[in-house]
Amino acid sequence: MSSIIQLLPDHVANQIAAGEVVQRPASVVKELLENAVDAGATDIKLIIKDAGKTLVQVIDNGKGMSVTDARLCFARHATSKIRLAEDLFALHTKGFRGEALASIAAIAHVELKTKQDQEELGTHLIIEGSKFVSQDVAVLPKGTSFSVKNLFFNIPARRNFLKSDTVEHRHIVDEFQRVALAHPNIHFSYYHNGSDLFNLPQSNFRQRIVNIFAGKTNEKLVPIQETTEIVGIQGFVSKPEFAKKSKGEQFFFVNNRFIKSPYLHHAVMAAYEGLLKDGSQPSYFIYLDVPPNTIDINIHPTKTEIKFDDESALYAILRSAIKHSLGQFNVAPILDFERDSSLDTPYSYKDQEGSFPTIQIDTAFNPFATDEKPVRFSGGSGGGSYKKEETASWEGLYTGLKQEAEMVFGTTEEDIQFETEEVTSRLFEEHEVEKAESKIYQIHKKYIVNPIKSGMLIVDQNRAHQRVLYEQFLTSMTVHQAASQQLLFPLNLYFSSAELELISELKPSLVNTGFVFEETNDEHVIISGLPVNISESDVSKVLEELLNELQHGIPENSFSQNDSIAKSMAKSLAVKTGAYLTEKEQENLINGLFACKDPNVSPFQKPTFITLSVEDLDKKFAL
Ligand code: ADP
Ligand code: MG
Repeated sequence: MSSIIQLLPDHVANQIAAGEVVQRPASVVKELLENAVDAGATDIKLIIKDAGKTLVQVIDNGKGMSVTDARLCFARHATSKIRLAEDLFALHTKGFRGEALASIAAIAHVELKTKQDQEELGTHLIIEGSKFVSQDVAVLPKGTSFSVKNLFFNIPARRNFLKSDTVEHRHIVDEFQRVALAHPNIHFSYYHNGSDLFNLPQSNFRQRIVNIFAGKTNEKLVPIQETTEIVGIQGFVSKPEFAKKSKGEQFFFVNNRFIKSPYLHHAVMAAYEGLLKDGSQPSYFIYLDVPPNTIDINIHPTKTEIKFDDESALYAILRSAIKHSLGQFNVAPILDFERDSSLDTPYSYKDQEGSFPTIQIDTAFNPFATDEKPVRFSGGSGGGSYKKEETASWEGLYTGLKQEAEMVFGTTEEDIQFETEEVTSRLFEEHEVEKAESKIYQIHKKYIVNPIKSGMLIVDQNRAHQRVLYEQFLTSMTVHQAASQQLLFPLNLYFSSAELELISELKPSLVNTGFVFEETNDEHVIISGLPVNISESDVSKVLEELLNELQHGIPENSFSQNDSIAKSMAKSLAVKTGAYLTEKEQENLINGLFACKDPNVSPFQKPTFITLSVEDLDKKFAL
């Protein structure tokens, strides 16, 4: 019987293994950047063409490689970083598997230029699909440059699987930011298609965060700091009022390595308990230092997950460190000189001068006189007036409360009206019912109920308004003649560079909705006109939510791009459940809804209204 098991040829094995390490251009970026960091570079340049599909290049000024190492680095499990299994538990480097370069070289065209400081000349090497194509001696600066071209050239299925440039580029920016945030002491720069996207000078953590996320980030941050035996924590969390709708800037670093940890995220959220509006997300940049032997990084090939020895202690320490900082921050406003101090004075005392208490004695008072009104106290002899006076002044302190109490409890019988038979029967008089037919009600600040001939119409106010706005936006975008309201003072909005990039891509569609952009540069946009249905105070929220929804890619064709924008803006702007609507507003909303092309469903295909016929009601009562 012949044997059927065969060993895979090396290049096939490499390709398969590569799939695990290299999922997309961003994976190459991550591996090359981390190698540069491990090589002790103080200056790292990232150069990208076409979202990494054409070129990913990383140039560093690190220690470089010898001729032998330059060849060896492409061999699988070739690494200078660990020698023994025990080394795995004392890792101080990013890489350790010795897999990345072998994997990348298996599925791309790679060019390596490298020179060690002490050498005169460097090595220039080309390897394509795991095959060495050329090797020269070359005059080079100290350090290493890896160029990775035509990723997945030999695996068309993978190449076709790549997403749009916007999506792939977004992933690259994410990786770049993670490495750059973890190493503020290294100068990073990033060029995409010839323009420089980031230039981050050597600095400290705070400055690095601000340099990356631009604008007003600095004033949003609260420092956190804690040192214990099992962990050192430092970093920044955002003040609660700057929490965002979207889960954006949330970073954990463990020993300067970016990690994802739903568990630690939970600890952060627990620290914010009670401080955030429903569903909003704080930003955080948290750097944890733990002894390398208390973590295991070896559990995931892309190494963004790690295992801690003592997770629950870490959780508790992190939560309390953040709580402490937020607490300090919450105390701070009391010392704030700009704060209106009258807010701290209770009741109605704020406008009154302090005065000395006085004692008034009614010398004419005679407790035995009969025509006096009885005094209600059991005070022994003499001091009636005094006591009374005292009570009055103490009562004064509670004036506000007393009035409120009176409002709640009513004075006596006159104010409380019990529902009588009479009242009840009046409800059913003919003319009243007729009047009600034309009346619209809002119930639970959520539904609008409108009696109609056959029964009643119940409209979900939020979904209905989404539909109305959605169709308005779509119309103005497709006919290119949106009305816009000119702003007296143009709005200056700050965004991160990744967000600004998205905005500039979306600009034509946004202009069609009525936005007028006066200026866009590399850290902010100035908006001088708005679509008529957006108020000034809504702008940043609307844009933020839009960017969040589109961060994983803008639809390629303009039709679906318009559609996504209209949907997102309609969702942000629609009246929410819980909002009170005047009768007029309720009426407008219902009329607007039924003027829509497709009033039955929200832009997200949820029903906007239901009807209940009289028969339906009858059936219910027949039970
Ligand atoms: P790992 O980082 O896990 O060791 P890699 O495949 O990423 O594996 O790299 C293999 C080896 O190549 C590294 O251990 C290192 O010695 C060398 N190397 C890679 N990139 C650089 C660089 N930019 N500068 C100097 N040496 C490098
Ligand atoms: Mg590596």
